[in-house]
Amino acid sequence: MAIDFTLSPELEELRIRIRAFVSDVIAPVEAEIEGHGDHEPLGGRDRINKLIELRKQAHAAGIWLPHMPEEWGGMGLGHVELAMVQAEAAKSRYGPWVFNCQAPDEGNMHTLLHWATDEQKEKYLKPLCEGRTWSCFAMTEPEVAGSDPTLIQTHAYEDGDEWVINGHKWFISNARRADFAILVCRTEDDPDIPQAANSAFIIDLPQEGWNDVREVETMHGGTGHSEIVITDLRVHKDQMLGGRGQGHLLGQYRLGPARLAHCMRWIAQAETALDMMVDRSLNRFSHGSLLAEKQGIQWMIADSTMELYQSKLMVLHAASKIDAAATDDSVDFKAEVSMAKHFVANMLNRVIDRAIQVHGALGYSTDTPLAHMYQHARWARFADGADEVHQMRIAQRTINAYTDDGSTRRATGDLPI
Ligand SMILES: Cc1cc2nc3c(=O)[nH]c(=O)nc-3n(C[C@H](O)[C@H](O)[C@H](O)COP(=O)(O)OP(=O)(O)OC[C@H]3O[C@@H](n4cnc5c(N)ncnc54)[C@H](O)[C@@H]3O)c2cc1C
Repeated sequence: MAIDFTLSPELEELRIRIRAFVSDVIAPVEAEIEGHGDHEPLGGRDRINKLIELRKQAHAAGIWLPHMPEEWGGMGLGHVELAMVQAEAAKSRYGPWVFNCQAPDEGNMHTLLHWATDEQKEKYLKPLCEGRTWSCFAMTEPEVAGSDPTLIQTHAYEDGDEWVINGHKWFISNARRADFAILVCRTEDDPDIPQAANSAFIIDLPQEGWNDVREVETMHGGTGHSEIVITDLRVHKDQMLGGRGQGHLLGQYRLGPARLAHCMRWIAQAETALDMMVDRSLNRFSHGSLLAEKQGIQWMIADSTMELYQSKLMVLHAASKIDAAATDDSVDFKAEVSMAKHFVANMLNRVIDRAIQVHGALGYSTDTPLAHMYQHARWARFADGADEVHQMRIAQRTINAYTDDGSTRRATGDLPI
């Protein structure tokens, strides 16, 4: 039974190189952009230019597209190796973007690699990999539950060689900057099963009929999640991505690795919060001793440590299953990704919350990154599958395992214990 958590010397060298790049190259620019210390925050073109310069440096340093195969200019890493890269990259909120492995482009790259025709790959995937374009993924609608894509109302009908699309989307991350969208809409009025009603299209942006009406203000500000009204938007039939009725399948395919990549980045954020929690507890004195010596604080540190450890194991196991599935069709990773996504999202919220508690008023202020991290972490519990939907599926699999095998063992990671 092979369980070995050590990295090969080459990967260890890569990890050290990424860590150094994040702390020595990205972190100072992040501080400049965010206005830490004596700096005024940078906005607009100045901010973009700084980030683009970082991208060029990352590309030159060979830390680029860790999730893509080498023939697409990537580092050709598996998902276990990627976990290490993402967990280092996300120590800075700009890290994944600088290495071109950020949502939603990263998930869109996986999707195009798997579903696009050769022509579509050349036109859309290539420039995305080269960092020359940006993309978005448009599925959620305000009128119906995003948790259930069979309810999607945005509708396309055929007109000669074209499809004509009408509908309404929102929370489309990156839409305002994107050069193209992957749009999921209803094309089949009478499908055999509800999951076969939707198809996906690649939409060049900007385009007549695609109206970006506002950036939705959120609890972490107005940071690029658009509401889109789609009116008589015409696309050539060659712009369909995947086959008719495969939009649901495509969305599910995309979400597996994309969900786990979120978990990898959340682990980095939680680790930062735990480091800060411990650091503060070693430097704050109250009622005769350091916070680190108080049992109430130690419980928070201990709980966070155990939960972070559990998260790392779950992510590594789910990642190893995704890697195994690449060469063995019988391997299914959905259950492990689902459990990891639920657990890590909640762990992240709890650990940041405890770190804020230990920092007191300082944690509530925006003088540390914790407040920002807390605002960002909240969406993790419902986007890319709400907690309750994951719990519903996890429970179904556990009940099925017991009904089939007389044991729930298969549902708990199918591990040899
Ligand atoms: C920051 C951010 C970025 C996003 N980016 C994108 C993007 O780029 N593209 C895109 O298409 N979408 C995006 N989304 C939307 C996101 O995918 C949806 O919010 C998510 O799918 C949930 O859909 P909903 O908001 O309609 O909630 P709903 O589906 O209405 O669910 C609301 C709540 O109802 C409960 N619930 C739902 N179903 C069940 C059930 N079966 N059993 C029990 N409880 C249930 C859960 O508590 C859930 O949280 C983004 C959202 C955020 C916040």
